[in-house]
Amino acid sequence: MKRNLLLTPGPTQIPPEICAALGKPIIHHRTPQFQENLKEAIEGLKYVFQTKNDIYILTSSGTGGMEAAVSNLLSPGDKAITVEGGKFGERWTEICQSYGVVTKVIQVPWGKAVQASEIKKTLDADKNIKAVFITLAETSTGITTDVEAVAKVVNHTGAVLVVDAVSGLGVVDLKTDAWGVDVVVSASHKGLMLPPGLAFVSASEKALKLIETSKSPRYYFDLRKSREALADVDTPFTPAIGIVIALNESLRRVKQEGLENLFAYYAKLAQGTREAAKALGLSLFPDESCISNVLTAISLPAAIDGGKVMKIMRDTHGISVAGGQDTLKGKIIRIAHMGCVDEYDILTGISCLEKVLLKLGHKFTLGAGVAAAQKVFNS
Ligand SMILES: *Cc1c(COP(=O)(O)O)cnc(C)c1O
Repeated sequence: MKRNLLLTPGPTQIPPEICAALGKPIIHHRTPQFQENLKEAIEGLKYVFQTKNDIYILTSSGTGGMEAAVSNLLSPGDKAITVEGGKFGERWTEICQSYGVVTKVIQVPWGKAVQASEIKKTLDADKNIKAVFITLAETSTGITTDVEAVAKVVNHTGAVLVVDAVSGLGVVDLKTDAWGVDVVVSASHKGLMLPPGLAFVSASEKALKLIETSKSPRYYFDLRKSREALADVDTPFTPAIGIVIALNESLRRVKQEGLENLFAYYAKLAQGTREAAKALGLSLFPDESCISNVLTAISLPAAIDGGKVMKIMRDTHGISVAGGQDTLKGKIIRIAHMGCVDEYDILTGISCLEKVLLKLGHKFTLGAGVAAAQKVFNS
């Protein structure tokens, strides 16, 4: 049987003990047993989010958590800053506009990260801006935003800082409380190595005030309902019971490893992947200054179709990587190193990439990518 190695930025691979937890018979959610699970999950999430704030568990993919953030924080006509330097930054703009929020869009070239000074300039120019929406790891381009620097700027104002940490949480550092991030959104199927189905939203005191007063229409994702239910260790609607139970398996694993160790671990996987790409004569798509440890976006020579690379890797060899989106379609491939991925997964992926590049006529020394990654992993 063909392997099915996922080196994709969501969904990510699910380790065996989490698969086993997902296979358990279902329990009812209005029971002390489920309450135990919910309590443990919230505590575990607080560790990963590095916060003492409330965290709400929603039943949706990551975008549902993003939509919840917008509809609960802002009212129609409110002003917000969004940053467009990739697909997920654009999503913030689209959601805001769906709710009648007036967006001050900061355009950033794809592959670069927004500078805190740009956000400061925009905030200084308009004192009525109520929220700033940024992306921790822009999965479409492979950059990481300096959230700490942005938070320093936003904390001096009346605006709340909202971070899409869907792909970055548990992979790169995000000190929610220490840096002063008001709302963090994440999801189950990236760094936390679970199936899609859960979104998580944390909210500071400053955010809670807005949540209480937003005039936007909201029902399923009304965080006032989540907050009320959470006080009784409950959820307003039927939660994704099985995934919440499996989440605890994932959170125990994260706790056991320790966040700092995980960040160092993924940094090494990322460095090995980057060195492998360079050794194959390929360049990295993002700017070196903001390159992400969450995933590696690799530019391909014009003669090589990234769509083909991706398809052959997946359909012939059972190894999935992601392609480029929008204007990057066919031009880059993206290799994720988040969640349940180790050195041997990366080496397998690189060796497969070599095989496919060779087949497509790219000139390089066979084995150079694997050797470069090995050198990093064994240093
Ligand atoms: C995956 C992802 C999302 C959410 O996408 P869903 O398909 O709704 O889960 C949001 N932001 C980023 C940066 C992501 O990588």
